[in-house]
Amino acid sequence: MNGYLNESNFMLVEEGFTSRDLLESTLAELCQSSEQQAFFVADLGDIVKKHLRFLKALPRVKPYFPVKCNSSGGVVRLLAELGAGFACANKTEIAEVQSIGVPADKIFYSSPCKQVAHIKYAASHGVQLMAFDNEVELGKVARNHPQARMLLGIAADSSPSVHPSMMFGATLTSCRRLLESAKEQDVEVVGIRDCALSFHLRSHSLEPQVFAQAVAEAQLAFDMGTELGYRMHLLDIGGGFPGTEDTRAQFEEIAAVINSALDMYFPEGCGVEIIATPGRYYVSSAFTFAASITSKEEVPTEQPGSDGEESGSKRSLVYHLSDGIYGTFSCVLFDSPCPKPLLHKKPCPEHPMCSSSLRGPPGHGEDQITDDVELPELQDGDWLIFQDMGAYSIATSSLCSGCPQPHVTYAMSRLAWKALQLLQGKPPPAEDDHESACTPLSCGWEMVESLCVPPVFTPASII
Ligand SMILES: *Cc1c(COP(=O)(O)O)cnc(C)c1O
Repeated sequence: MNGYLNESNFMLVEEGFTSRDLLESTLAELCQSSEQQAFFVADLGDIVKKHLRFLKALPRVKPYFPVKCNSSGGVVRLLAELGAGFACANKTEIAEVQSIGVPADKIFYSSPCKQVAHIKYAASHGVQLMAFDNEVELGKVARNHPQARMLLGIAADSSPSVHPSMMFGATLTSCRRLLESAKEQDVEVVGIRDCALSFHLRSHSLEPQVFAQAVAEAQLAFDMGTELGYRMHLLDIGGGFPGTEDTRAQFEEIAAVINSALDMYFPEGCGVEIIATPGRYYVSSAFTFAASITSKEEVPTEQPGSDGEESGSKRSLVYHLSDGIYGTFSCVLFDSPCPKPLLHKKPCPEHPMCSSSLRGPPGHGEDQITDDVELPELQDGDWLIFQDMGAYSIATSSLCSGCPQPHVTYAMSRLAWKALQLLQGKPPPAEDDHESACTPLSCGWEMVESLCVPPVFTPASII
């Protein structure tokens, strides 16, 4: 093992013991003590599985996890243990990742807009890989970080659906000028980051020709860099891969489209290494959140027009939770809708469904978590459960000062833990206690075998 994660960082549970079971037992304890603090349970084995799927589906692509997506200790430690790199948006994230011992060459300072103080911090802490997409950012790095290795972010012009203000990345037309300017300022450019790919993934426009087009434009940009004498050898295809199974396109389908575009424009053996920054893909489904209702109010239902006969009969309730969109539910600000709440207790059959909306703590302004969900009438103190809550819910710094960060209980099954050890080419220690009849290779973890060798990741060769 690499020593980032050990058995004191999580609960080792038997295979088949789900995070829902863990959540129920935690709730049972809390209800006894009438404690109402919201909390998470996280299944680290789910992240191990996602990693194996990633290696299998995109064998040429090295993942760098964007820390802003989930900076919780268990996630960062596990991903470091798995050999992933990290995409950091600022100095705080770089410091967090380095504090557990991740070497600088596995850190990508990926934000397109950087403060000078943070650039200096990266420079003094050995972080070299960075990205830029305009003159101003280029100038800041040129003056403050002579060792930087830069990826030029491009946004192919083929993204009409995205509002221009949402778009990072230089157009191909400005690409040559930026590369020339980098040359004049003696800045080392090592490759291209293709911002368009992320946006297409996010909007699920899985047209193979759109992908091929974006990768083709990246190749044109590579050629421009090469012409100017740069050794272009790194392509970043970004993030945006789905984290749950309910999306229109499955991860494997997306991977197949990406692979064929890569094979066409950056064939194996061309000397270009490919990285990606998958965030929600890794963590969404691993985290389940439980929060209780702190207060409720009934709101008068609107009666559209004069035919208020049926519409007047239904009640409409607003529930406040102890946490809102300035805390855990900030995921709703990152284009992922709030997951449908599940009830902890079975509803009473005679309780009719009400049109309900969920809000954060009272007094936080327009803290609207979700509107218009059908729930039976609930009481103060009732718990709601939200699945798929791993992405953009746990931040290094909460937007809500004074909101307590919910506690996270991490669990991993014995088999996931063994699979992780196998993946690193280390036989797991012999079990002395209750040996399970099931080994990782016979319980749905078969893919470990084909992925065991060689070392997952050799970052030194990237830079
Ligand atoms: C936030 C971020 C992403 C987002 O990734 P998702 O997969 O959509 O969660 C990707 N790359 C970088 C560099 C980011 O900062």
